[in-house]
Amino acid sequence: MSIGENTASQVRDVIIVGSGPAGYTAAVYTARANMKPLLIAGSVTAGGELMNTTDVENYPGFPEGIMGPDLMENFEKQAARFGTEIQFEDVTELNLDGDIKTVTIGSGETFQAKAIILSTGSAYRELGLANEKRLSGHGVSWCATCDGFFFKDQDIAVIGGGDSAMEEALFLTKFAKSVTVVHRRDTLKASKIMGDRAQAHEKIKFVWNTAVEDVLGEDKVTGLKLKNLVDGTESELAVTGVFVAIGNDPRTDLVKGKVDLTPEGTIAVEGRSSRTNVKGVFAAGDVIDPTYRQAITASGSGCVAALDVEHYISDLNS
Ligand SMILES: Cc1cc2nc3c(=O)[nH]c(=O)nc-3n(C[C@H](O)[C@H](O)[C@H](O)COP(=O)(O)OP(=O)(O)OC[C@H]3O[C@@H](n4cnc5c(N)ncnc54)[C@H](O)[C@@H]3O)c2cc1C
Repeated sequence: MSIGENTASQVRDVIIVGSGPAGYTAAVYTARANMKPLLIAGSVTAGGELMNTTDVENYPGFPEGIMGPDLMENFEKQAARFGTEIQFEDVTELNLDGDIKTVTIGSGETFQAKAIILSTGSAYRELGLANEKRLSGHGVSWCATCDGFFFKDQDIAVIGGGDSAMEEALFLTKFAKSVTVVHRRDTLKASKIMGDRAQAHEKIKFVWNTAVEDVLGEDKVTGLKLKNLVDGTESELAVTGVFVAIGNDPRTDLVKGKVDLTPEGTIAVEGRSSRTNVKGVFAAGDVIDPTYRQAITASGSGCVAALDVEHYISDLNS
């Protein structure tokens, strides 16, 4: 499905890869700068991570909150309103050499542009349990900043043993009655300072050497089925919220070996800009962000990329 005209042979000013908050914001800005962007949205993952959540209460401009998929539909409509051409396909290959970049999509069709904005996001690691997926947005979350507020006075579990798990657990103590950290090993991977802080907190308990076997609950989470990895005993933990904090992988498969990455695996950009080490290639959103990873920061980053591309194209033309 596509919106607007689709002329494969032309060399466009800009192609945007990804249809999350970063990609659509870059599209709104570049479209309003008359650059006629083509946005490759992805096929099954179009709309990005907010398609997997329910209420979004922290995106400014929506005082009553908005459902994630509704917010992304608004983004799409706004980008289309200014003439963004949208292809609901996956990019399968990128040739970033030279002044004209080539983008190949799943159907085999190719498109060319002077500039590319990469906004492919990142993926939270999952436990890989069927009920984890089913109860996502109904008690299972990957983001305490986003969803902690919904768990006031409740018993919550955090899965993981790294710095981000400790950060999530400490943040959740602001709301939760109790926070139980479930960790596969008997020591933390987290830095000593974060581990000490979490272990000293009166609301936080630790369950060591333990794997999550299942997430329990019909419409909402009611508990976890746990297995002790030392003696094999099984138990249940009654919780109404589960925060999975076992890592996050920036989606860089398309550009590995083609643009520089940071030690954290995100696409490296120059300072506060969106410029990668490859001329004409820009990046925005969670794919460049190991730290904040919010819809609003991704949008801001998409705006930066659009303005950088605008300057790049006007320099090329002058
Ligand atoms: C369950 C959940 C709830 C969240 N809740 C909130 C919240 O309440 N508030 C908040 O601010 N943030 C929330 N977040 C975080 C927020 O969703 C992300 O920070 C934000 O979506 C990042 O935007 P992005 O545009 O960088 O990437 P994404 O939204 O991840 O979008 C990436 C895009 O890239 C596309 N893509 C990837 N590979 C390809 C390819 N090969 N070809 C074409 N397209 C491709 C995908 O289709 C997708 O459209 C939540 C995240 C999760 C997982």
